[in-house]
Formats: sequence, C-alpha cells, structure tokens
Amino acid sequence: MSRARKLKILGESAKYDRCNYANYNLDNFLTRKTPGIYNASTRDGCTVPLFKVLMTNKCSNDCRYCVNCNKHRFDRVEFSPEDLTSIFLDYYNNRYVEGLFLSSGINRNAETSMENMVEVARKLRMEHGYKGYIHLKILPGTSHDLIKSAMSLADRVSINMEAATPEGFEELTSTKNYQTDIIRRMKWMKRLGNRKDLAPSGQTTQFIVGATNETDQDILERVDWLYKKLKIRRSYFSSFSPIRDTPLENHEKPHPKRSARLYQADYLLDSYKFHLNELVFDENGNMNSDMDPKYCSAISNPENFPVEVNEASYSELLRVPGIGKVSANRIVKLRKRGKCFNKMKELKDVGVVVSRAEPFIKLNKRYQTTLGV
Ligand code: SF4
Repeated sequence: MSRARKLKILGESAKYDRCNYANYNLDNFLTRKTPGIYNASTRDGCTVPLFKVLMTNKCSNDCRYCVNCNKHRFDRVEFSPEDLTSIFLDYYNNRYVEGLFLSSGINRNAETSMENMVEVARKLRMEHGYKGYIHLKILPGTSHDLIKSAMSLADRVSINMEAATPEGFEELTSTKNYQTDIIRRMKWMKRLGNRKDLAPSGQTTQFIVGATNETDQDILERVDWLYKKLKIRRSYFSSFSPIRDTPLENHEKPHPKRSARLYQADYLLDSYKFHLNELVFDENGNMNSDMDPKYCSAISNPENFPVEVNEASYSELLRVPGIGKVSANRIVKLRKRGKCFNKMKELKDVGVVVSRAEPFIKLNKRYQTTLGV
C-alpha cells in the first residue's frame, strides 16, 4: 500500500483522539487535501497546526467505542519509524505543521508499539536536530523505563483515561485495567514530571463522554482529583460518536452540548479555582445543558450576590457571570490605583459583559437590578 494511502487511513483514525478545547465535531481535521493535519486550539483561543497520526491502527484491545477495536473489520496498516519520521519532516519543512502529536493502536503489546513511537521522537531529536513540539500518547501498560524515555524526548505526554470510574472503564473494555494500566502510569508520569527535563509541558488526559452511564458529576469529580493529585495540565472531553461495525454502533449519542458544558465546568475548576461543590448537578448527577455552569452556579447561590465591585476579592469577582479573568484583573489593578467604579460604562470599558453581570453586582453600594430569576 502506498504511503499516501496509509497516511490517509492513519490520519483519519487519529481524529478520534481529540486535543482541542471545546471541540465536539471533527471539523478541525483538514484531512481532504492534507491528511493528518489538525488544528489544535489552545485555551486562549490560538490554533496550532499539528501532524496528528497513528503509527498503526492494528490493535489487540477491544475498546468498544473505538474505530480500531479488535472487533472492527477494516484496513489495518502501520508505519515504520523511518517512514513516519520522513513524512513528518516533509510536512514540517514545508511549514504545513508546527509540531507532532503521535499516537498508536496496540499491536501485539504496548511495549513494542510504544518503542516505535519513541523511536520516531528519538530520530527527530537526535538524528535530525528537530527542536519543535512533540506530544506522545503513552499507551496503557507501557513500562516505567519506556515512559521515562518518552518523556525525555517529548514536550507533552498523555494517557487517555476514557472513563471516570473503574465501573465505567469496565463498560468500555475488557482488555485494559483502570488501576494498573492507566492510574498507575499517570502517577509515574507525575513523579517523573518533577524533573524539569522530562515532558516540560506536563501530562494531559481525555475522556469519552456518553459511551457509559457515567454522569457529569462522576467525570468532574475525577477531573478535580486529577488536577489536585496528579497535577495534570488539561482534560479533554470527546463526545462519543457511534461507529459502524463496532460494538457500540447502536449506542445513543450524548446531548450535543454535553462536552462543551464539561469544558466550561473544567475551566471553572482548573482556571477559576471553583470548588467542585459550587457546580450544580441535577438529581441524576448531570449539569443543565441549556445554561452555562458559571451562570447556573450564580443563580443557585443567591446568598453570594450582589457583589460590591469596589470591595470584592479577585476570587469573588470571578464568580460573577460576565466577569472573566482579564476584566477581574483590570478591576483589581485599577482599584489599587484609587479608582472607584460608579457606572456600568466603566465596567464595560474594562471588558465586563454588563448585561450578564448587572443582576449580580453592586456599584458603590448601589444595587443595579434584581436577579429576575
Ligand atoms: S487501545 Fe486505543 S487504539 Fe486500541 S482499541 Fe483501545 S482506544 Fe482503540
């Protein structure tokens, strides 16, 4: 099979592994003309074109949601480390991409497949002097030594949790173990990551949303634990999408906004330092898909409002709908210089979305309106 054909197949397979903030469709893959090129979005809204591909779609595991699941009959191909290195350098030298995101199916065993991935990174760094971005997916079950080698070459590493609980994980696969193959490896990565020369951009993970009975609360409890205990840098939420001829082909899709709401809640936990108990879940453990989690939290805790803009702490300002990190920072800085806010227009000038903030704030002791909810 030609290299171009393989690239099309393995680039397509890689698109089910997301690394894009708030992405719950596959539009960020530019596969038609340039297979494997993926526009990854950062949290601050920038996009970075990455070469995102699998070493192989051959896999001995039975993950029921996955296109590469061993039950799925379709074309199985693989790249050698030499081929993949040369294709990446072609893309990179032609400025199609700015970095590499490499993953793989587990052909025979995790160690051999991971060795091939590490070899690509080694060739790029040692033989070709490549100094750009490399993200290596760590395959479940990889040994400690090989994870360390991967981290010595990559900027970032990740291992997909896929599920938030051991029970959810068991619904997805019978060939991987949640505690030993995933959690234990993540703990190793955290410990190794204390060394500044090993994967300096840290570790991330991904959840498949809607393929199990897990609730939003289950997922966000796990995410909260990961940020606090394992110091992961980011969580990604990939909406389950049924794939023909795989075991979950008839499984229902999740609500189209569910992953987006999880991203918003995740941002509140990680970046705004919300406590888990400030998020609002219904009796089934799910968030309101029609309302953003910060607004939902504010109207469910009316005792915390209205907030006096001229006295509130940075953290209290951040809890006001319509006030983000940039505007909260500006308010605090201006106050330190003696500024007193009296009018909505002054808040608008520092970036506050006043139509959202108004019911939740006081300006110089004057309450602007009522919550009206
Ligand atoms: S191990 Fe990875 S590639 Fe293999 S079936 Fe599971 S999710 Fe898919």
